[in-house]
Formats: sequence, structure tokens, C-alpha cells
Amino acid sequence: WQRKNCPPDVEALGSSTWTLLHTMAAYYPERPAPSQMDTMKMFFEGFAQHYPCWFCKDDFQKSVAANPIQVGSRKKLSQWLCERHNEVNEKLGKPKFDCSKVFERWLEGPPNGKCD
Ligand code: FAD
Repeated sequence: WQRKNCPPDVEALGSSTWTLLHTMAAYYPERPAPSQMDTMKMFFEGFAQHYPCWFCKDDFQKSVAANPIQVGSRKKLSQWLCERHNEVNEKLGKPKFDCSKVFERWLEGPPNGKCD
């Protein structure tokens, strides 16, 4: 734990937040009940309003408005979130993540044990 991350900067906050969000999506039900779809949608609506980085949240709100959240299944939610994350990666000049590997990264673990 480094002093510069106390309180967290945009990078530390972002990395921890993506960990939570992708893990939530990976454990979301394959066949969610209507109430689970509703609460997941509400979670992201609140998240987009309250994420504590104003320029991140403004762009995330625009991205969600243009690409409505997909809460129909674990796979749909995970792919949707992967695409939203890739938009941020693109904006920051980071490499795009291969969204076909999202469960390998966030649920099953890669065969060689290395996530990055
Ligand atoms: P991160 O981007 O934090 O990724 C963490 C890990 O997720 C990676 O190591 C990789 O294994 C995996 N990963 C990468 N891409 C994907 C993907 N598409 N799908 C699934 N897994 C993936 N920072 C800014 O400077 N400006 C912004 O506008 C901005 N907006 C943000 C908006 C949101 C909603 C969030 C949560 C964060 C935002 N950030 C922003 C922070 C930024 O996205 C990074 O988190 C930060 O730069 C640290 O990057 P990192 O290299 O540690 O990897």
C-alpha cells in the first residue's frame, strides 16, 4: 500500500472499482429473476451518478445512455461491462481487452494463473 494511494487517486480507485464491477457481473445469475434485473439496473444507475471522479462519471453516464445496460444474463452483463471498460481503455490509450476472455479473467482464472 503506497502513501500516494491514501486516499486513492483516479488509477487506484479505478482499478479497485473495475475489480468489483467485473466480479459482480461474473457472479450475476445466468438466468436472473426480474427483481435481480431491476436491482442490478438500479445499482448501475446509482453508480453512474455517484462514482467519485467527476470526469469519469460524466463520460460513463453518456456511455450508459448510448448503450443501455444489459441485465438479461450473466454473459450479457459481463460483455456489456467489458465494452464500457474498453471505451475507457481507448480514451486513455490503453490496449483493448478481448471480451471473449472476460470469464477467464474474472471468474474461472486463466490456465497459466496470470491475470495480466
Ligand atoms: P484498469 O483499467 O483499472 O483494469 C483493471 C484490470 O481489468 C486490468 O488489469 C485487466 O486485467 C482488466 N481489464 C481491462 N480492460 C478490461 C475490459 N474491457 N473488460 C474486462 N476486464 C478488463 N480514468 C481516467 O483517467 N479517466 C477516465 O475518464 C476514467 N473513467 C473511468 C470510468 C469508470 C467507470 C471507472 C471504473 C474507472 C475510470 N477510470 C478513468 C480509471 C481507469 O479506467 C483505470 O482504472 C485506471 O487508469 C487504472 O488502470 P489499470 O491499468 O490499473 O487497469
